[in-house]
Amino acid sequence: MDRRSFVRAGMLGVAAGVTKPLWAGSPLLEQQAEQEQDRFVAYMPVMVSTWKHGMEANKAGWEILKNGGSSLDAVEAGARVTESDLSNRSVGIGGMPDREGHVTLDACIMDWESRCGAVAYLEGIAHPVSVARHIMENTPHVMLVGSGAKKYALKNKFETIKTPLPAVKKEWKQWKKDQNKVEHPEVNHENHDTIGLLAMDTNGRISGACTTSGWAYKLPGRVGDSPLIGAGLFIDQEVGGAVATGLGESIIRIAGSHTVVELMRQGRTPQEACRETVERLIRKHKDLTGLQCGFIAMDTRGRVGAYSVFNGFNYALRTNLDEQLVDAEYNRSWE
Ligand code: ASP
Repeated sequence: MDRRSFVRAGMLGVAAGVTKPLWAGSPLLEQQAEQEQDRFVAYMPVMVSTWKHGMEANKAGWEILKNGGSSLDAVEAGARVTESDLSNRSVGIGGMPDREGHVTLDACIMDWESRCGAVAYLEGIAHPVSVARHIMENTPHVMLVGSGAKKYALKNKFETIKTPLPAVKKEWKQWKKDQNKVEHPEVNHENHDTIGLLAMDTNGRISGACTTSGWAYKLPGRVGDSPLIGAGLFIDQEVGGAVATGLGESIIRIAGSHTVVELMRQGRTPQEACRETVERLIRKHKDLTGLQCGFIAMDTRGRVGAYSVFNGFNYALRTNLDEQLVDAEYNRSWE
């Protein structure tokens, strides 16, 4: 009840100074009254997004949430802001390419009815998150990849882009010169900045989205956790939602976001669920070099939590009260 504000407090006789409702003592009437109240419940919206770029994304989402719009619209609008940001090197148009110079984008979206859509390995399309939503709303499928996803996006008139940006291409060329002989791409955890977003609207409905250009200089064909429902994102309106950022391979290995949600189902707070999930991820990896990864979570009461392997992960939190950039807790056993 803590996040619910009854817009019809009068129903309980509070406004009239009545201390005991008329139906007190009758289980049937009490149950009916409770159902009646639920129809008048308004939730306080909340939005949370990974990393500093989440601040701008939340602003766009908040415009929708504060006017009573849906959490699905809010997370999509937020994700699109980051996808359009020319200075962002790990999401959308400004993203880093794979080893062969192709910027391939991954995204997914999920709502309170467990509807979900995803795209992976999509090249040359400005807003993969919107393509993911379009797939969710207009096809019997969840995920389209590569040339099929591109064909779908073009057919449905999604905006095209030319990638990589010239500055990014220059960097890639230099990298290629330096790394020519390396079999596996180097892991640079500074460069894991996927945006993951969770929002609750005034109807208490939770949605989430996740969008990325993935691991810089990945092997061609590589897809990480971000577009995978259950790994990069998971929502279950009975419990809450979670999104991930960081080294996708490690997150897939433990079905990360699903794990967070299932731990909340077992009674953990969002904070505890994120921590336990990160601890599990740590247990499953012998070598943690460069293995930064973090989760954010929200439950149906609008409580939020976050946790990462190493120091340095932060998230943007927007509520009715304020907007802030919060440093996530992390595994301090390294210190
Ligand atoms: N999770 C993303 C991936 O592995 C990377 C990131 O979070 O920046 O593709």
